[in-house]
Amino acid sequence: MEITAMFMHNKRLQYTVRVAEPNPALGSLILEQFGGPDGELAAAMRYFTQGLGELDPGRKDMLLDIATEELSHLEVIGSVVAMLNKGAKAQLSEAAMEEAELYLSLNAGGNSHTQSILYGGGPALTNSSGVPWTAAYIDSRGDPTCDLRSNIAAESRAKIIYERLIAITDDPGIKDALGFLMTREIAHQKSFEKALYAIADNFPPGKLPGIEKYANMYVNTSQGEGDMEGPWNSGEQWERVDDLEQVLPADDGDGTATVELGEDDRAVATALTARTASDPNGNPTTGVDLGAGPGAGRTTDEDMGGAADIKEASRMADEMTV
Ligand code: MN
Ligand code: MN
Repeated sequence: MEITAMFMHNKRLQYTVRVAEPNPALGSLILEQFGGPDGELAAAMRYFTQGLGELDPGRKDMLLDIATEELSHLEVIGSVVAMLNKGAKAQLSEAAMEEAELYLSLNAGGNSHTQSILYGGGPALTNSSGVPWTAAYIDSRGDPTCDLRSNIAAESRAKIIYERLIAITDDPGIKDALGFLMTREIAHQKSFEKALYAIADNFPPGKLPGIEKYANMYVNTSQGEGDMEGPWNSGEQWERVDDLEQVLPADDGDGTATVELGEDDRAVATALTARTASDPNGNPTTGVDLGAGPGAGRTTDEDMGGAADIKEASRMADEMTV
């Protein structure tokens, strides 16, 4: 068969959706995987855009395959949400119930009233709290080892969200469909892992090598009770730094920050420094002294009749007059 279009739509879903009964509140929670950060639209757009920019023919093929499958998942999860809202959608559209009854049905919980009132019971591209989907969910950088690692993390996040959704429903048809979608994320993670390790030198990312003497250094910057040793900071692979005073700054410089300024810059920098110089010897009275009341703590020149003391004295004088 000749393929004539870039995208075609097959009317059958990738997995059959059998929802036992309407449940708008559950629908609003399941929206997390429709328009949330770890949801199917984010996954599809992440891999689609990576695929378009990819130079390697193998990775390009894989990314476009998985991107397209994620769109199929978007269709499955969106259909679950639509079925869960089908009753409420019809009831509201036809205004068939008594007002009070309809009001109660729309307030089933979660974000379900927004789904009904604003989106008419259709799946909205929001997360489970109604936050609109955003391209900011996509964190591709156009480097294959960075992006494959990010994809591996994204698939593991999606797997966990499906697990949580499966835990909150006892509808066997929904559990079944969510279990399928969850398992496909496991398969995708495996493909991305293989694609990462199909790149001979995949670590460190990019082209520039790390600087040898800093690449094995572990800096024990949080010290005291609770310090632990493990393969992540001790043993053959690590040069562990415990004496920070001795070893830092890591180079042989003095650990200050300097810059060579041109003559013009130097003159204005000097003027700026002089104009905004702080006087360590003065002890000025400030607004907090003038406004200080109970609970202000110590104020300026307390022993020498500071503002707070003056106020207190005047208050006491007032009391005595009465
Ligand atoms: Mn998916
Ligand atoms: Mn996936």
